[in-house]
Amino acid sequence: MNVLKFGGSSVANPQNIEKVVEIIANASINNQLIVVVSAFGKTTNKLIASAEQAAQNNVNYLENFKEVEQLHFEVIHELVPKNQQEEVKTHITSLFKQLKTLLEGCFLLNEITPKTLATISCFGELLSSYIIASIASKELDVVYKDSRELISTSNDFDKAQVDFQLTNANCKAYFSTNKHQVTLLPGFIARTKEGKSTTLGRGGSDYSAAIYAAAVSADELQIWTDVSGMYTANPHLVKQAFPIPHISYQEAMELSHFGAKVIYPPTIQPVLEKEIPIRIKNTFDPENVGTLISKITENGKPVKGISHIENITLLTLEGSGMVGVSGISKRLFETLSAHNINVVLITQASSEHSICVGIYDEDAEKAALKINEAFAIEIERHKIDPIIVEQGLAIIALVGDKMRNHQGLSGQMFSSLGKNNVNIRAIAQGASEKNISAVINSSDAKKALNTLHEQFFEEKVKQLNLFVTGVGNVGERFLAQIHQQKKYLKEQLKLNIRVVGISNSKQMVFDESGISLKSWKEQLQNGEASSLELFFQRIKTLNLRNSVFIDNTANQQVSEVYEHYLANNIGVVTCNKIACASELNNYKKLKHISHKFNAPFLFETNVGAGLPIIDTLKNLIASGDRVHKIQAVLSGSLNFVFNNFNKNISFHDVVQQAQEQGYTEPDPKIDLSGVDVARKILILARESGYELELSDIENNAFLPKKSLKTTNNEDFYASLTEFESHFQQIYKEAADKDCRLKYVAEFNNGKASVGLQHIPFDHPFYNLEGSDNIVLFFTDRYPVNPLQIKGAGAGAEVTASGIFADVIRIGNQ
Ligand code: ADP
Ligand code: ASP
Ligand code: MG
Repeated sequence: MNVLKFGGSSVANPQNIEKVVEIIANASINNQLIVVVSAFGKTTNKLIASAEQAAQNNVNYLENFKEVEQLHFEVIHELVPKNQQEEVKTHITSLFKQLKTLLEGCFLLNEITPKTLATISCFGELLSSYIIASIASKELDVVYKDSRELISTSNDFDKAQVDFQLTNANCKAYFSTNKHQVTLLPGFIARTKEGKSTTLGRGGSDYSAAIYAAAVSADELQIWTDVSGMYTANPHLVKQAFPIPHISYQEAMELSHFGAKVIYPPTIQPVLEKEIPIRIKNTFDPENVGTLISKITENGKPVKGISHIENITLLTLEGSGMVGVSGISKRLFETLSAHNINVVLITQASSEHSICVGIYDEDAEKAALKINEAFAIEIERHKIDPIIVEQGLAIIALVGDKMRNHQGLSGQMFSSLGKNNVNIRAIAQGASEKNISAVINSSDAKKALNTLHEQFFEEKVKQLNLFVTGVGNVGERFLAQIHQQKKYLKEQLKLNIRVVGISNSKQMVFDESGISLKSWKEQLQNGEASSLELFFQRIKTLNLRNSVFIDNTANQQVSEVYEHYLANNIGVVTCNKIACASELNNYKKLKHISHKFNAPFLFETNVGAGLPIIDTLKNLIASGDRVHKIQAVLSGSLNFVFNNFNKNISFHDVVQQAQEQGYTEPDPKIDLSGVDVARKILILARESGYELELSDIENNAFLPKKSLKTTNNEDFYASLTEFESHFQQIYKEAADKDCRLKYVAEFNNGKASVGLQHIPFDHPFYNLEGSDNIVLFFTDRYPVNPLQIKGAGAGAEVTASGIFADVIRIGNQ
């Protein structure tokens, strides 16, 4: 004999019920079956809501009632065989009449007792089971039986305790003589010896089925639901979660106790004793094998699953008067138990200075009051502090029988949470080591689940969530490169890169599952209005792990928001030099925040576009080298300009060409005035460990004062034309000496300067082509022959690839 239980979503509408009947028919071919059904999806919630509204004298209580009534008659109308409709309608109408009378009673009395609430909430199952029995009887030999005649309980109405002796005897007597192919019963409900209806607790239909399975020593208990088994984590919160093929009773019990709602925790106990296997199956994918819960598990992964419970309050009792005083915890737990307050988690420091207990939010107020009463004398004498109450928390738990044989799991758990800035309020590990739990803020729960899932189940693929601002030349190329490399990154580098947000100065667009990189332009055009603040707030609210903000602008205001991102554990990758070249204190602050909040701050493209200059420098310093001198040509723009400028072309035209080809900043004066180069040498000096300000850098500008003073591009270009002879003179002086003009940045013994130099043909800078950059590092290890890095130092494509490299660096961390 097998026992099959169908949950609320499996019987939520006529189409689903047809699927259920088909599953029952297939399963009954060679087997006698006990079939337990829940109320039609959401019915129990609506009944409870309606009862509570009625008790609060809210006239709207009938709305929920009517919705429930309508759904049931719709199912009867569509699925019950014509010749049975009258009889079924009569029975169901009479149930609705009783239900309405009870609700009216609550409305008139303005109150509801636990007994009445249990009676009202039972109706969902009474209705669903009777209707489904009559539908299934069309093809099958089905008998309907009211569970209240079999399951006997205590009178704790909303979550009654089962009297197994009486219940088992009732079941044995009934099923031993019942020869019908299928017995159909309502889940969730039972009754006291006095005949009053009770419930087995929310989600309790699973338990009803387990009680029957144990009583008749069934071959298998099948829980049919809306997911294909018990998953490694709640599949609605963790997209990458997958069904666990085989799991032990203890593991399933721990997971369900810690929030894996797919099975009601008490369900396992009755079948475990008889070693009856449980299969979790998907009504909407019946071929899927689902999850097998049984006594033995194969030698699988040490961590089997991750679950979480919401709406947790942490109570902390502490005070100097607790140390070494026996009986404090006994009194605390007696107080909680005397008021029926369920304790979900306990931790106590070995100093005995404080005890922490996790309870459900709904009990918090009562618990605090009762504990403060129980310890009133100690509180008055300042031996113990009034109880500390923290709400809005969640518990997250790793579960696995084999965890105790593996060292370092809790280390991995807490370091991965820490890296993602998930603040841990309390930790509990059972002595059996089947479970490690942490209390965290509710707002971090989804991020924590995904982080741990990635750590323990997807070790090889790391997800990065990118938020890109600025989609001009560089930003557009960057998105195109990511699009092109996505597959390679996933397969070869085990990096799953999702662009979750894109913004420009006017609009922004978000998609948590990843914006399509084919159609991002249209999506952005139709996006919502954007601002720096709105973009940041949305990213913060999304609270995704491994989030990275990417600044592809050259904008001052954007550079000023990095600290908010970093302080929220969101990495920053930027090609914008303004932040790193700002005041020394600001640069140091950003580095400090990045370190403190474990949020990478990378800006490789600030110097030499995609060339690995800063990364190389960092590695030199980290490995103990010291930089004495830097000589560099760091302006792709100025290089381009002076490589192309001669007596046959005007300076104005060369600069314009450079700008058109994307070799200059949007404001070309920043390049030509030397400010851009000064910023770059400043950043290199700072990264080498020297504390310099931009004003410390000697800037030997070659632009006439008038050009420097212009405030817009038009005036700037006009001034270039006006001073053409000045530029020709500069060219001639170099050409007369067979030298080339290079804008050189130098750092030597703590001092830096930038300016045009005449470079002779035997100098390493002489042959720099196009927009190439070159850097020479003279260090302890490279005192005479410097370490040289040379290559294309400007342009959208290479800058984008430099940003890409920083993103990969974060992925590899
Ligand atoms: P039913 O109505 O069939 O009893 P439930 O809603 O009680 O279904 O349980 C199924 C739901 O449990 C799933 O839809 C899923 O949202 C939730 N769930 C939470 N944790 C897990 C998990 N680890 N594996 C599978 N489902 C889970
Ligand atoms: N209908 C009940 C509830 O919603 C029992 C169940 O579905 O398991 O809690
Ligand atoms: Mg359920």
